[in-house]
Amino acid sequence: MPASTVTIRILRERCKKCLNCVRVCTAFDGVFEEGPDGYPVVARPEECVQCLICHTVCPANAIVHENYRVTMLINPDEAIIERYRNMV
Ligand code: SF4
Ligand code: SF4
Repeated sequence: MPASTVTIRILRERCKKCLNCVRVCTAFDGVFEEGPDGYPVVARPEECVQCLICHTVCPANAIVHENYRVTMLINPDEAIIERYRNMV
C-alpha cells in the first residue's frame, strides 16, 4: 500500500543516466522507469514508500523527494513502521 503521496523529481542537469534508481527502488511496482532518452522518469510516485534508498545509490545527488518528512510525521502508515522495524 502506498504510504502517501510525495513529490519526486529527477534533476536532469545532474543525472548521469546510471539507472541505479530504477534498479534499486523498493516500491512493489517501482517508482522509476527508464525513459526513451535514457533518463529515469518518475512513473509511479504514489508507490513510493519513502525508504530513500534511491538517494543512497544515486552518484549525482539528482533525486529530490519533497514533503518527505512532513508526510512521515503526519501519516505514519503501519506498513512503513513495520518496514523500518525490519530494517533495524
Ligand atoms: S524512496 Fe524508496 S520507494 Fe521511494 S522512489 Fe526512492 S527507492 Fe523507491
Ligand atoms: S541514480 Fe541518480 S544519476 Fe543514476 S539515473 Fe538515477 S537519478 Fe540519474
